[in-house]
Amino acid sequence: SYILYHDQIIKDGSIPVDPQDRGYLFGDGIYEVVFVYDKKPFAFKEHFARFEQSAKKLELTMPYDVSTFKKLTDELISKNNIENGMVYIQMTRGVAPRNHLYERNMQSVVTGFAKSVSLENIAESQASGISTYLTEDIRWLRCDIKSLNLLGNVMAKRKAADFDCQEAIQHRDGTVTEGSSSNVFIVKNGTLKTHPSTNLILNGITRQIVIKLAQQNGISVLEEAFSVDDLLHADEVFITSTTMEVTPVTKLVGSESQSYNIGPVTLKLQDDFKKQIIKNTSV
Ligand code: PLP
Repeated sequence: SYILYHDQIIKDGSIPVDPQDRGYLFGDGIYEVVFVYDKKPFAFKEHFARFEQSAKKLELTMPYDVSTFKKLTDELISKNNIENGMVYIQMTRGVAPRNHLYERNMQSVVTGFAKSVSLENIAESQASGISTYLTEDIRWLRCDIKSLNLLGNVMAKRKAADFDCQEAIQHRDGTVTEGSSSNVFIVKNGTLKTHPSTNLILNGITRQIVIKLAQQNGISVLEEAFSVDDLLHADEVFITSTTMEVTPVTKLVGSESQSYNIGPVTLKLQDDFKKQIIKNTSV
């Protein structure tokens, strides 16, 4: 396979890993995951707008412009013969003798890879729904940055899997924030609710697209914090992410438990999102 290293697409196995890269030492870096449908990246512009925002919030240097990142992404897709799959791109602050204090304007290190994904697996969870595990959100207070520091998310996902769940739903003092790698929506009396885009969640690209699609359909959307109690009494629950698209939640376990049916609002948005994939243009 072929990987991305700085602005080159090269054969895997040929890059040196520097132990003093701040990505390894401090998790000092950011990343993006873009889905590939029919050999084309989906919502690339939106993903790279977020990449740039994450870089800015951490004072990371963007070494290339978006058009270079797009060219490299296209090359990763074509060289690896990806029909459907994902592209992962990460950027660390770079290499320096270990010191918590960072110097500004270091030379960032960009790496990345591409992977084929079976759309059938996604279709399966989308048809049957997934089980989720309710757990406390123990993460830091800058979840809006798509940083490499993912231990809170990683621990939540492991716990969910231990309870035979595909995803965790996190709450901070009884307020539902997001999944371990997805955003959470509830439907109550036809109205859609999801946590507002604050420092407590990652503003998912799928989340943003789904909100727009709902509004275009006359479904009212409230970007408002909701409680675990609201989650328990919701008519429908679904999660959104680049790799899961719109996936219904049929079960909640953990400190509370509940079952849900897959409802009409979820199905409508799932369908509209599929159409958006085919169009592959901005909403
Ligand atoms: N929230 C977290 C913590 C995530 O890691 C992700 C994606 O992996 C999302 C939400 C969903 O974001 P997107 O729709 O941009 O994939």
